Amino acid sequence: MAQILEVHCLACGTDDHQLDGALFAGYQPRCDRCGETRLVERDDGSGAARPRGRSQHAVDAWVSEQAGTCTCGGRFSTAAPVRCQSCLSTDVSCTSIGSAD
Ligand SMILES: [Zn+2]
Ligand SMILES: [Zn+2]
Repeated sequence: MAQILEVHCLACGTDDHQLDGALFAGYQPRCDRCGETRLVERDDGSGAARPRGRSQHAVDAWVSEQAGTCTCGGRFSTAAPVRCQSCLSTDVSCTSIGSAD
């Protein structure tokens, strides 16, 4: 279940809402450069694409591989920080205002 975050940028003052975490439909890794998210489905139906092992590291590596490369050249990671979508600053304060699946 993902959290709905109210993101307030301390650098430019923009307020935004972003989803953080895995949804029922799949993982949502975030680009480590621009903060864009991409949905990676948990299972493509073939049964061959599941993460090996259950450790967070193994899952993150698998998700990054599935997500590929961002249009900005960055790499997707479930551990990438939340960024302001206006100025890309990571200097943001996040408040959880709910959850989504
Ligand atoms: Zn900003
Ligand atoms: Zn990017």
